[in-house]
Order: sequence, then structure tokens, then C-alpha cells
Amino acid sequence: MMSGSFFAQQDGPALLTKELSASRPPNLRDYAAERARFDWNNAWARLDGLPGGAGHNMAHEAVDRHAAGPRAERVAIRWIGKSGARRDLTYGELKVATNRFANALFSLGVEPGERVFVLMGRLPELYVAVLGALKARCVVSPLFSAFGPEPIATRMEMGEGRVLVTTPALYRRKVAGIRDELPGLEHVILVGDEPTEGPGLHAWQPLIEGSSADFTIAPTDPEDMALLHFTSGTTGRPKGAIHVHGAVVAHDITGYYALDLHDDDVFWCTADPGWVTGTSYGILAPLTNGVTSIVVEAEFDAQTWYSVLEREKVSVWYTAPTAIRMMMRLGTEAVRGYDLSALRFMASVGEPLNPEAVVWGEEAFGLPFHDNWWQTETGGIMIANLAALPIKPGSMGLPLPGIDAAVVRRSEAGDDVEIIEAPMVEGELALRKGWPSIMRGYLGEEERYRKCFAGDWYLTGDLAKRDEDGYFWFVGRADDVIKSAGHLIGPFEVESALMEHPAVAEAAVIGIPDETVGEIVKAFVALKPSNEADEALRKELLGHARRRLGPAVAPKQIDFRKELPRTRSGKIMRRLLKARELGLPEGDLSTLESDEQR
Ligand code: ATP
Ligand code: MG
Repeated sequence: MMSGSFFAQQDGPALLTKELSASRPPNLRDYAAERARFDWNNAWARLDGLPGGAGHNMAHEAVDRHAAGPRAERVAIRWIGKSGARRDLTYGELKVATNRFANALFSLGVEPGERVFVLMGRLPELYVAVLGALKARCVVSPLFSAFGPEPIATRMEMGEGRVLVTTPALYRRKVAGIRDELPGLEHVILVGDEPTEGPGLHAWQPLIEGSSADFTIAPTDPEDMALLHFTSGTTGRPKGAIHVHGAVVAHDITGYYALDLHDDDVFWCTADPGWVTGTSYGILAPLTNGVTSIVVEAEFDAQTWYSVLEREKVSVWYTAPTAIRMMMRLGTEAVRGYDLSALRFMASVGEPLNPEAVVWGEEAFGLPFHDNWWQTETGGIMIANLAALPIKPGSMGLPLPGIDAAVVRRSEAGDDVEIIEAPMVEGELALRKGWPSIMRGYLGEEERYRKCFAGDWYLTGDLAKRDEDGYFWFVGRADDVIKSAGHLIGPFEVESALMEHPAVAEAAVIGIPDETVGEIVKAFVALKPSNEADEALRKELLGHARRRLGPAVAPKQIDFRKELPRTRSGKIMRRLLKARELGLPEGDLSTLESDEQR
């Protein structure tokens, strides 16, 4: 157990040091040494490979490898249903179930390389379908079950879905009406037994039961396409990122390094597989690492979550800033009374994690949240606050071994980059090409894909700074950065300052065109319960921000909102706040989740 942490105010930002456990040292103990000796070829040595040197298949590494060894009886997936029902699948059982599903696909005449879409809540069958389809060397594309018919149709049409695995209710509500738009959709496999009519429908249960439990994965080239993952749509229309089977080596090692997965861990990734985190770290990484992975069907509810942590003795927890901020709204008192002594490591991804939230983790759980950074395009975690190293609250951490990150400026012609060596200077966050889980393309958008690269570098579209110790600090998405009176203002900095105020639950900051200064900073603020959204509080917040940030950076306007619009993966959609503010077209809203105005 980590214990007895404290904050030490350094010259720069606060440093959060931790006392490390002697009995369970972090996997990545000596960062510098491990970085120096790291080689992706050695990372492959942690995995198995298909028998007879027949390549690498994600599902083999995640499931079959363990089912054939001492972990066969270990619980691979523990599913907790909405009603509290619980179902365990051991690695051995998961192997059989996924074999049957792979055979079922073959019996339907589905060929390797064809696209299998998955549209359902977090049910055990989802996990069986994803892994089984990977065994059959089909390409899997998971969708959020909450998507409406339009986003489903667009993605399935773009991805040329031949098979859809869903539930009867979702089929009737969302898919039946768009079947005409999807001539390529031949088979719909329905999980659950309500009678449903339509062409090419198959019930899951009899299909699985009628399929053999034996399956041999055919040779799989690590460059074979495995997953088609749509981005969150935070900045615009979602892109379909293509990932290959060989990405599994990155899922595995990043789970080991950044999430510090140890053999006997009980791991809970709260993300839905409709978002890449729910696939890379909700399915693949925990399984390749051979741990027990908790799957919770229900949506966020603080009390439910705390009882899952307690009852299941979750030891490693991977969640997102939105959820953390929702827990913060309820205060530390809500956590008391739960025995969370099994919990030893907490991580967060998806959005910048405000320093306030890192510290709150300490207060509420006795552990800090370790922020890490990656994107759908990178396939896995790239930059992370590590278990063995001090956390700098508000920083994304250090690049993992095998990952070269830099802050760069793109050349005029756009075909090369200049690396910014000076510390704490803003530029675009770039990663040196060559790690195995990088996307192999944006489906149907060759030009857009090409533009992500310059020289040896992949350009992320995010702006960041790097400090003297090599820690990276998120500034904002290139699209969201505000240019005001000669200053470049990252919304994150302003939002974090607002979040420090005890009344503020969440904040989103945008730039509004202004003739004199270019743009002025405007903030949208959601308050914690029992605070009045009145003029006095507005003034107080404006004053607080000015004191914290100075008049050049502090917001000039603050509007109160009950909720901020966000994507289904929990990201604040600043572009939507801006479009509405300026009366501009709202753009693609297919991933929009909560929104008081709709
Ligand atoms: P789209 O590309 O469609 O606009 P998106 O970028 O939100 O959507 P994702 O790939 O799910 O889609 O999210 C990756 C982005 O999320 C990153 O580029 C970054 O902007 C943000 N992000 C993820 N983790 C962090 C983090 N730890 N700190 C700051 N930002 C983060
Ligand atoms: Mg993006």
C-alpha cells in the first residue's frame, strides 16, 4: 500500500511525492534506466505469438494465452449487472465463449477483414463478441449504445459493417428504421430473446450453442486491421481511426507501466468500449496482463461506484475527469463509510485533470489520481504520471519508455517540425513515429491522415509545454486556444483556476472575437449543489480569477450553466458553447451527451 503522502512546494508547481510500498514495488521503478534500455522488440517478449510463429492476434494474447496456462481458472471478467447480478468469466470460459462466437461468424460466411459492429450496453456478450470477432480476424468497431440512428448509420456505412451485434430493443429502436441505408449489413446478431422481426436476424444464444467450442486462430499478420475506432467528436466530425493487431504489444506494456498492473490486481476501467479507452484498457490491456477486470453495466452513480470499489476489492482504478468532478460535487463525506483499503492506484484520462482533482483524490481516497494522456489515434497511453514518481498536479506526466514526445512548431511548408527545447514554451505536442499502436489511417480520409505527420513526427493537435524535469503540461487543443491581446491562453489554465473556487463544480472557457484584443475570454461555469448562481457570485468568481491569473488571462465574462455540454466519452464540447454563443452552425453533434438546452 502507498501511504503517508504529502505535498512539497517546489520552486515550480507543487510536487506530490508518495511513499512506495516495499512489498509491491511499481513495475516501472527506475524511469531513466527503463527508458534507456527499452526496445519494442523486448516488449513483444512479454507476449506469446500464435503457435508456430503464425503472427500475433489480439485475442490470443488477451485470452487464449492465459487459458492455456496457470491463469485458466482465474476470473478474467467479472460483470456486475444493473440489478446487482454478477457473472464471472474465467480465462478458460472466455476462451470457449469467444471460440464459439468466432465459429458462429464463420458459419454465417463472414470473412476475415469484414467489419463487425457492436452496439450494446456493457453486457458480457459485448466482450465475447469483440474478442471472438478478433479471433475470426474480423475488424471490430464498437459503438456507444446511446447513439441515435443517425450516428449509427453514418459509422456503419463508412465502416461497411457486414455484421451488427446488438440487443432486440436497440435493434427495434435504432437500427430497424435505418436498414435501408445499410445494404451491406447482412447479419444482425441479437443478444436477448424478445421476438424481433427483420432480415438477417439471428438470436445469439442458439447461434453460440450451435457453434463448436474449438477454434484455431488462423495466421494473423500484426499489421492486419483489428479495430476501427471513432474519435470522440469533441472538435468536429468523428474520424475513424484504424488500428492493427500488433497494437496489442502497446496495450500490454502500457497497462504494465502506466496502470501498474500486477498479477493479482482487480482492475476497473470505468470507460465504455464505445470510447477507445473502454477497448484498449477496458478489454485488452487488463486481459493481456492477466488480471481480473471489473465490468459495471450501470452508468455513473457515486454511491454505486463506491460500493463496487469496496465489494470487489478493486486495487487499480482507471477513470476520467468528468466522473471525478461529479464525485467531487458530492464531497469527501460521501466516500467515508466505505472500506476502500484494497485500492492502491488510481488513474485518469480523457481530459485535463485539474490539480484540484488530483488533490481531492488524496483527501477522499488517501491516494492521488495519476493523470495520463493519449488519443484514439495513439491507440494507447503515451504520457503518464507514474506510480514510482512524484506527481505534479495538473501535469500529464512523462512519456512512457518507447515513446518520444516533444513540443514542436510546424514548419511553414508543414512538412517538418522544429523542436522547442526551451522549458515551458507552448507548442504542438508531437510523438516520434514508430510505436506499434499508432493508427494506420483515418478510414476514407487519406489526406487528413497524411496531414497528421511531418518529418519523423506525428502531430497530435494538442498544445502543451514541457518543464525542466521533462513533465508535459496540457495547454489546450489547438482549436480551443484563445488569442487575446498578444497572449495565447489555454482554456485549461483558466478552467483550473475557476475550479479552485469552492462553489465551482466545472468550468469551460472559450474565446469570443473582439475587435480590439482579438478574442476575449469567456467562461461557462456549473456550480456545486447549494450555491446560488447570482450576480454576487459572478463578481466573486471574476475577482478570484483575476487574482489567480492576472487581468490579461482571467475571463471577462462568466455565464452560469446547470450542465456543460459534453461528449459521450465525457469531454466538454467547447466548440458547441462557442457556436451557440456566436450563433454559428453547431456542427456534428452525434457524440453529444448531456446538454440542458436540448
Ligand atoms: P475528436 O478528435 O473527434 O475531436 P477527441 O480528440 O476528444 O475527439 P479522443 O481521441 O477520445 O477524441 O480524445 C483524445 C483527446 O482528449 C486528446 O487529444 C486531448 O485533447 C484529450 N485528452 C486526453 N487525455 C488527456 C489528458 N490527460 N489531459 C488533457 N487532455 C487529454
Ligand atoms: Mg482528437
